[in-house]
Amino acid sequence: MIPALIFFVMASYNQKAKVRSMKKQHLPQKICQHCQRPYTWRKKWEKVWLEVRFCSTACSTAARRNRKQSPQ
Ligand SMILES: [Zn+2]
Repeated sequence: MIPALIFFVMASYNQKAKVRSMKKQHLPQKICQHCQRPYTWRKKWEKVWLEVRFCSTACSTAARRNRKQSPQ
């Protein structure tokens, strides 16, 4: 639908794949409890990695909303 956007996503994906294969870092991974996708350790999580359960703030917000279904 938006070819420019698709191209950008694919290009950045290719770049990431290249960097990953070159560096071959072994970072821990987890499965997001909301979207069920694997996500990799990030610097910003170094102190809270054990508590991290979602790949992004969007997922954590969505999961929180799903739980709290009481109107308020
Ligand atoms: Zn997620």
